[in-house]
Amino acid sequence: MTDSNTLYIPDTMRAMVFHGPGQPLRMEELPVPAPQPGQVVVKILACGVCRTDLHVFDGELPHPKLPLILGHEVVGMVVAQGKRLHDEPILTTPSLVGIPWLAWTCNTCPACLCGQENLCVKARFTGYTTNGGFAEFALADARYVLPLPQPWAGLTEAANMAPLLCAGLIGYRSYRLAGLELTADPQRSLGAEHLGLYGFGAAAHILAQLAKSDRRNVYAFVRPRDESAMAFARALGAVWAGPSHQLPPHPLDAALIFAPSGELVPMALAAVRHGGIVVCGGIHMSDIPGFPYELLWHEKTLRSVANLTREDGFLFVKKLQHTPVQTSVRTYPLAQANQALDELRHGAFHGAAVLLP
Ligand SMILES: [Zn+2]
Ligand SMILES: [Zn+2]
Repeated sequence: MTDSNTLYIPDTMRAMVFHGPGQPLRMEELPVPAPQPGQVVVKILACGVCRTDLHVFDGELPHPKLPLILGHEVVGMVVAQGKRLHDEPILTTPSLVGIPWLAWTCNTCPACLCGQENLCVKARFTGYTTNGGFAEFALADARYVLPLPQPWAGLTEAANMAPLLCAGLIGYRSYRLAGLELTADPQRSLGAEHLGLYGFGAAAHILAQLAKSDRRNVYAFVRPRDESAMAFARALGAVWAGPSHQLPPHPLDAALIFAPSGELVPMALAAVRHGGIVVCGGIHMSDIPGFPYELLWHEKTLRSVANLTREDGFLFVKKLQHTPVQTSVRTYPLAQANQALDELRHGAFHGAAVLLP
């Protein structure tokens, strides 16, 4: 079944399984999946808990695979690789990899053919339409895993790397699409000094450090009176932190919205300069209230970010190799996945929740 060196793999594994909205995840004993051609088996070291997991858990994202193992911020070791099918890399076993949200694309649809595989109509997503990382082992397509250096971003622990796999990566794609990546389009990023981050959770706390190392001024917008979130943002280098409805002391060149709240859109539009851009980074957001055209006038741009491409992943891994970041994580044993989801929902901690199998 495998044509490369295979390490010892048990017959069964523990996984926290989702059977449908409104039901808590259940600990189950399942067979460890065998790698089919083109696939790898990954022994999971850590898996982050993302807000998207909560949206699937709550039934806000339609048609998940059922039953399902959630989790798409997986850090682990490749322990077996199936027969090579295409041009997938040969991954030595063991080697450290990340399994991100984008699990598979068709490579033939118009989106795939023009470099927008994140918009592939047949795309499969980890922890949503394929099994993810709330388990001891996971199966992944070898072409979509991200080989990780060790240390990465100055981090040696898998638990600290896990939030980079979605919170970090989606934040980075938002940053790229706002024209802020210095190498992407130097013309566009000239003068883009003032960056606003709306919602200072897992994504923003990573991106703030990255933007600071790119010499940008970060303005953090949080819930009114959330003094501890403001202090957290300042500690990570934000030059200003305040309530979301407030205008920043300087007009923003770009604003990235990570909180799933549509009412932030008009507020962010009001805070950006003429010609500025507002990017919605979340997969799910409440309705955007009506707003006067004046807020969009003067060539302001409003756009969303959907999923990620493999290119985002490879560029992000590379960028962080030279940019140390700290991730603030709260770890939970795998069996406490329900508690982790609940505490994420209630904002019980700063940064990100991570499950350890
Ligand atoms: Zn496609
Ligand atoms: Zn995510």
